[in-house]
Amino acid sequence: MLSPSTKIDQLKKVGPTYLKRLRQLKIETIGGLFLHFPHRYDDFSQISPISQLKKGQLATIQGRISKIKSGRTWQRRLNITEAMIKDESGTIRAIWFNQPYLIQTLKQGKTVNLAGKVVFAGQTLCLSNPVYETVTPQKETVHTGRLVPIYHETVGLSSRYLRYLIKPLLPLTGQINDFLPEPIKKEFKLIDLAEAVRQIHFPDNFRSAEAARQRLAFDELFLIQLNNLRQREKLNQEKATIIPFNQKLIKSFVQKLPFKLTDDQRKAAWQIFQDLAKPKPMNRLLNGDVGSGKTIVAAMAGLAAAKDGYQVALMAPTEILAKQHFQTFSEFLKKTNLKIVLLTGSEVQGLPLRTTLSPKANTYPTRLALRAKKEERSLNRSQLKKQITDGQIDILIGTQTLIQKEVNFKNLALAIVDEQHRFGVAQRAALQQKIYQVKDGLATLPHLLSMTATPIPRTLALTIYGDLDISLIKQMPKGRRKIITKIIPPTERQKAYQFIKKQVKQKKQVFVICPLIDQSEKLSARGGPALGGEVKSVSQEYEKLSKKVFPQFKIAMLHGKLKPKEKESIMKKFREGKTDILVSTSVIEVGIDVPTATVMMIEGADRFGLAQLHQFRGRIGRGKDQSYCFLFTDSAAKRTNQRLKAVLTAKDGFALAEKDLKIRGPGDLTGLRQWGLPDLTMASLNDLELIQKSRQAATLVLGKKLFNPLLEKKLKQFQKNIHLE
Ligand code: ADP
Ligand code: MG
Repeated sequence: MLSPSTKIDQLKKVGPTYLKRLRQLKIETIGGLFLHFPHRYDDFSQISPISQLKKGQLATIQGRISKIKSGRTWQRRLNITEAMIKDESGTIRAIWFNQPYLIQTLKQGKTVNLAGKVVFAGQTLCLSNPVYETVTPQKETVHTGRLVPIYHETVGLSSRYLRYLIKPLLPLTGQINDFLPEPIKKEFKLIDLAEAVRQIHFPDNFRSAEAARQRLAFDELFLIQLNNLRQREKLNQEKATIIPFNQKLIKSFVQKLPFKLTDDQRKAAWQIFQDLAKPKPMNRLLNGDVGSGKTIVAAMAGLAAAKDGYQVALMAPTEILAKQHFQTFSEFLKKTNLKIVLLTGSEVQGLPLRTTLSPKANTYPTRLALRAKKEERSLNRSQLKKQITDGQIDILIGTQTLIQKEVNFKNLALAIVDEQHRFGVAQRAALQQKIYQVKDGLATLPHLLSMTATPIPRTLALTIYGDLDISLIKQMPKGRRKIITKIIPPTERQKAYQFIKKQVKQKKQVFVICPLIDQSEKLSARGGPALGGEVKSVSQEYEKLSKKVFPQFKIAMLHGKLKPKEKESIMKKFREGKTDILVSTSVIEVGIDVPTATVMMIEGADRFGLAQLHQFRGRIGRGKDQSYCFLFTDSAAKRTNQRLKAVLTAKDGFALAEKDLKIRGPGDLTGLRQWGLPDLTMASLNDLELIQKSRQAATLVLGKKLFNPLLEKKLKQFQKNIHLE
């Protein structure tokens, strides 16, 4: 007996080859097959009389085969099958290329449906390569005479094959139990799951196809929302340390700052202080453009927690960023006598650590000296770890080293994660568990403050961040110089090079961003339409710039295939001004601060999302000098250039992210994967209405406890899937 859980290898129509192809799409069972949806339909539902066909029309006809033959053309290259089809109104010719086997199915005298384009061949109308199907009174048609599902034809699975496979299995949908609670379906006018599956594959009409799409899209969003709200509910039941708002401390700190906080910074800080004063863990995201001043807000939170006698941890994705934060925190908090320490894979800073080594260690033969150094390092490390456990360290700043097993805090009350989208779902989960700790017999979780510069459109925020509270910093600090941004067509490239030459001679530095690492790299299909000009690669550009254009300057190259250590050292050299020009893929750090970098040159700018371009641009303009961003494009397409112009006029990254989402879909938004968003096959992140509905529904289910075992199971599956990605 077949059922939705039957493995597809049990099906006669699935031989070894197709089994392999279906498995490539992660389809294992009949139920899985049901969830492989078509992306559109051909409307072959109206059968036209042959005499009324017109050139260029996409038509379906029904008639008898009065003649059929198959043979090679005189060039002997092409096989042609040619048939004459007759209905009550007339006769038409149909031809197929290189399908000699058709003659086995399409026999003279049989009634067939043909659907395809009507073309002019020689003197007469003709159907070229039409979809065909023999018709018998007992059998419903699958490929013609209806709305016909078209699937994405990847991995060698044709729509015809999938239709042939799926259609006869559809009665099994009767065994699908709907996981959506009845009241939810009623409230939000959603059709039954089994019906939705039937109608999405073989819809009765476009209306029912849309109803099916709505239901299936709703399901995707609903599970995301439900999962988010569940997480939030769980977190709300946890205990956290109360850190009362210390007005005097914060006021005097803010007064001594060398600048005035922006309103958005104030508001964000205020929201954080209110969270910290609650007995449950904060879970807040601080979202603000590059350079909007998130660090100082985090430092204020850190100050509040540390001055109240608790420990603070700040984790950054790279050593450079961690070090940068360490310097900033040390500077801002230097009058507070708080102990601030840096701990990364390669260094420890901030504490005068006792060392038992003789001062002559450096004069030993090299090998011994190295060993001595290593010993000293590990000694420092173990001392530091002990001091963390003892509570002598107030603020610990570092990389993933902070989630190591041996790093144990005495009373960690606040954890801060910078550029949090750079950490995977699993890593963030590990951090939250890692810092779990026990105090006075009570388990408490630290408050969690995450920071990101990735601008997120509102619909997306509602979807992804259901379990987070968000503070937005939209304003830039006053007095920032606007970065001069220009779109550079090929004719002005030389002029731009001359300009860059002048800048470097004035000891300024330049970033060059390219879409690819090397020429062999294939562009993803998602990159959009094939563009006329060639796509620039880092290695090619590096060659060209260092040999031909700027042989007199020091040029370095950076990309994702380098080891983390290599990347760090290249970035470090650039930051220290030892390199003039850095040619890179999009991997360069978002948060990196290089005040003397004044030029950002982006090759193949049309290949990037708008928000991404904006983020690249955010890496310059950090110092006091005027900065410039050049968007190079070889594309002459007007639309491309109009799109790029948005970068010139946009107020902030949020506006650009909204535009990206509208124009190119969510694929271009950076960091989506890391947010644990599953692939959405049906739902659109532009559909604000459906997103809001799904959120309401999830709230209802939780509030009214509408859970059933099926829904629980479905949710578990969902969680498993996002953690695997
Ligand atoms: P990001 O949000 O990208 O992490 P940072 O926190 O690194 O930005 O801040 C960028 C720069 O702006 C830093 O040098 C910081 O000292 C400075 N800054 C922060 N807030 C203000 C402000 N209100 N006025 C002027 N400068 C500020
Ligand atoms: Mg930052």
